[in-house]
Amino acid sequence: GLRAGIVGLPNVGKSTLFNAITRAGAEAANYPFCTIDPNVGVVDVPDERLRVLTEMFRPQRTVPTTFEFVDIAGLVKGASQGEGLGNKFLAHIREVDAICHVVRCFDDPNITHVAGSVDPLRDMETINLELILADLETVDKRLERAKRQLKTGEKKAQEVYALLERLRTHLESGQPARSLALTDEERLELRDLHLLTMKPVLYVANVSEAEAAGAAENPHVAEVRRRAAEEGAEVIVISAKVEAEIAELDGEDRDLFLAELGLAESGLDRLIRAAYRLLGLITFFTAGEKEVRAWTIREGTKAPQAAGVIHSDFERGFIRAEVVAYDDLVRAGSMAQAREQGLLRLEGKDYVMQDGDVVYFRFNV
Ligand code: GDP
Repeated sequence: GLRAGIVGLPNVGKSTLFNAITRAGAEAANYPFCTIDPNVGVVDVPDERLRVLTEMFRPQRTVPTTFEFVDIAGLVKGASQGEGLGNKFLAHIREVDAICHVVRCFDDPNITHVAGSVDPLRDMETINLELILADLETVDKRLERAKRQLKTGEKKAQEVYALLERLRTHLESGQPARSLALTDEERLELRDLHLLTMKPVLYVANVSEAEAAGAAENPHVAEVRRRAAEEGAEVIVISAKVEAEIAELDGEDRDLFLAELGLAESGLDRLIRAAYRLLGLITFFTAGEKEVRAWTIREGTKAPQAAGVIHSDFERGFIRAEVVAYDDLVRAGSMAQAREQGLLRLEGKDYVMQDGDVVYFRFNV
């Protein structure tokens, strides 16, 4: 599956946030195959549609979909120069599919800041620079090879060389690879470089407990928003400390605590949904008397491959999918009504799945 990595400087609240993630973690029973890795937290993706479908189908059980966060602690200034430790953290970042970059926006004289003061812009730049430097190294290595290939005189080799040069200039000017304008073909060409700054990013502004409800926007947060907007990145404002407390609570206690804070939902739920979108993931549902269940696929997945997420036999023997859009189903009020109103579509192997599709797969065994 796809994973989001949590990065940030020391003492910004990563562990606090990650603890909240693992404590709020997915129901183990719904996730039997998880490897027990202390740095990986599995979360249920909160989805209001599951509650609605559960009311409609009254199934024996309801299963949300999940995905994983990886705690990548220890990224510090100079990591890209580091022989051992620093590089190891960069290697961990290489393995994730999206980055949640935590920045400290809370003032607390009791908690040391690695750089001496709370300055989220400087922190963002510090981390981003390390990632850019690591990418420059990767690109330089690739450029050497591209240079040798130039001697073949092939047009393709020239194009690759020019592309790498353009990327290098871009990185050198302090820009992340993701902001370089690329054609699909160029993007494909660069894919196996696994560039750190090509990964999609969102910023998590960690504010104090008092600011959890976001009543008055802290000036640090405003700075983070401005900087993130320049990159087209999303910002999630959260108080990691409050999230850790919320994660301890269940059901009614949790609702009461959230109401007390003036929050409609936990910041963690907002973060989970934002990270899910950042990973380019969408949800489809299967629904029946036995089970209502959410499944995760990448945007652009076709029906047989979506069926394969449920079971490989479903993909192999795929015949067709009976699909109704969630909104249509809810408007119709029941599956029977949806069928009667002609809202249930028969889709073949080329159908591209849409977020919210409620599906029944027909297959041969
Ligand atoms: P990490 O090094 O980034 O993993 O940071 P930690 O999660 O260990 O947090 C560093 C310190 O900051 C700990 O003492 C936390 O309790 C504290 N901390 C984290 N979030 C908040 C917050 O929202 N408000 C306050 N006052 N302290 C926080």
